[in-house]
Amino acid sequence: MYNSYDDIKIEYENIRLKNLMLLDETKNRIYEEHPKLKDMDLKIVHSYLDIGRKKLEEKSIDELKNEIKKLTIERDNYIKENGIDPTYRELKYDCNICKDTGVVNDKKCSCFVKKEIELFDKISHFSNYIKHDNFDNLDTSFYKQNDLNMSGISYIDYMKNVVDSLKSGVKFMDEIPYNIIMIGAPGTGKTFLARCAGAYALSLNKSVLYVNVNEYLSSLKPDFKGVSLEPYAIIADLFILDDLGTESITEFTNTKLNYLIDKRLNDKKSTIITSNLLLNQIGDNYMSQMYSRISHAYLQCYLAGEDLRRIKNANI
Ligand SMILES: [Zn+2]
Repeated sequence: MYNSYDDIKIEYENIRLKNLMLLDETKNRIYEEHPKLKDMDLKIVHSYLDIGRKKLEEKSIDELKNEIKKLTIERDNYIKENGIDPTYRELKYDCNICKDTGVVNDKKCSCFVKKEIELFDKISHFSNYIKHDNFDNLDTSFYKQNDLNMSGISYIDYMKNVVDSLKSGVKFMDEIPYNIIMIGAPGTGKTFLARCAGAYALSLNKSVLYVNVNEYLSSLKPDFKGVSLEPYAIIADLFILDDLGTESITEFTNTKLNYLIDKRLNDKKSTIITSNLLLNQIGDNYMSQMYSRISHAYLQCYLAGEDLRRIKNANI
């Protein structure tokens, strides 16, 4: 279990060390069983060294190259005849995609994301929430506000559109960053939907950090005894900030939230915010830059009515 990114880094170092030792062990074992093979390998290595050192007094490079070719064929035949694993001299990797570095083409390898998911879950216990809060447990037919019109369509159709937006936004967030703010009074289901989207992202092997705004900001205070969540919030594939507006707003919290929202937009990372504040109230309470970023770069989704879970449970 990981407590920080350092733990993941150490694990990669241990994996590399383990595989180097495995290579040594394999080679030594095969050489003990086949001393002749060891001689052959040494001869080949020495011939390469001779080329490198340019010891050409007696032999030309062409002659040395021909010798290596001959020796290699001899060795390969010996390996075949004796049923030896031909990869005994090769370093093995736990992950062949990134060769146990965690990075491939400057992007996180899927093996790294798996470790990151584990780390984030330790921080936020997100897997506990999504046992119930996932799209499989959502049934838009439970919305009762048939007569409520949102943007000229019925509330049921509006919510179906919201769910479709969350699903496709998360699915394609690697190609197009997906940012949405879900605004609604307590009990309108915004947290539930945000968690559903997070659960869906996890099912697609994306790392998800889900935190309540108060929990997030507390972790950034200089006197906080635990780990600051900021580095994880910056790097998560999907960051879900729950309940914006329920914190006590100070210059410190304002600056920190503004920085995070700005940083994730600049890094083209996807974010879901839930809030009980209307957009104009966000404008009144937060830095103008943060308001401007949210109002321009985020989809805005307004929720009304009752909590989906409550309605569903009441019908069971
Ligand atoms: Zn990998």
